Amino acid sequence: MVEIVGTGVCGTDRKILLGRFPARPGTVLGHESVGVVRETGPQVRSVGVGDRVVVNPTLYCGWCSPCLRGATNFCRHKAGTEVGVDRDGTYAEAVTLPERFVERVPAGLPFRSAVLIEPLACVLNNVEAASVTFGDTVVVLGAGPIGMLTALVAGRQARRVTLAEPDGYRLERAREHFAHVVDVAGADPVEAVAKAWGEERPSVVFDTTGTGLDAALRLVDDGGRVVVMGFDDAYSVPLRPLRLTNRGIRLIGAGDYRADTFPVAVNLAAELGAPQRPGSGTGTLLDRLVTHEFPLERYSEAFTALGGLTLGDGDSGDSGTERPPRYDALKVVIRSHSGPFGDDGWPVGV
Ligand SMILES: [Zn+2]
Ligand SMILES: [Zn+2]
Repeated sequence: MVEIVGTGVCGTDRKILLGRFPARPGTVLGHESVGVVRETGPQVRSVGVGDRVVVNPTLYCGWCSPCLRGATNFCRHKAGTEVGVDRDGTYAEAVTLPERFVERVPAGLPFRSAVLIEPLACVLNNVEAASVTFGDTVVVLGAGPIGMLTALVAGRQARRVTLAEPDGYRLERAREHFAHVVDVAGADPVEAVAKAWGEERPSVVFDTTGTGLDAALRLVDDGGRVVVMGFDDAYSVPLRPLRLTNRGIRLIGAGDYRADTFPVAVNLAAELGAPQRPGSGTGTLLDRLVTHEFPLERYSEAFTALGGLTLGDGDSGDSGTERPPRYDALKVVIRSHSGPFGDDGWPVGV
């Protein structure tokens, strides 16, 4: 049993509440969670009472055929096991899980940064699926937390990474961390990127918005890859197969992550998020991605900061040309714990 300290609000949570992502009605949301082990069963070995931990919310059985070939994110027995989607999540005081879905947070990685481990696992899986190499030039559509993490991870390989974003707040935040950021407000992203890039076109495009597939397909260079990451059940694109075959475009959907990706995300977060890392300057990207924190009872303010819970123009989805919702935040965290708090502003000694 993990006493939850905090949970990052995911774009998926908002899409669930708007009816744009399938979930079981009545389920407690919340899946990007960190906390402290409060109780263990007699056979638990890898964690102990008092350990700081992160939850891997993508439960799997381990013995069905997708699981046996390592594709645990497509487990056949997934129904009712996705924490915060169809099994009660962590906008709550505590959660009880099997041992293998609870991992220790490395010493030195603050809770505040550790809430980004789960999104980082998604990003690792998708960047890996795109086989990004040194020769690649990458455009990431959307500079929310997932977009920025994608730019960060892809940028460890690719020759050039550009973020494309229409929201003023997110543009400003993205420019604090990335050299190439393109404002696509009121413009066709394809034209806006072309203006910044000249002749060259991206060999890989990640769409983290859920409504950018059409733009991504027009933007990507011949022979390139398009990775679909954002979720919006209401968005669709008519796709003529010839559009892929003639130009040699690979369209990639990689989903969340396999079981073996999660510990990699834990270790990479430790690398990226340790406050004393040389060159980390005024704070690591992980730390600065968390812009707002609210106690559990003020959850509605958390969603207000992320575009609110009424359908905005950008959520109607079908044409992809509407104005996107306005954001006043990057990663918003809902805190389940009331303290006492340490230097990093997060509970200690719980
Ligand atoms: Zn999420
Ligand atoms: Zn399985």
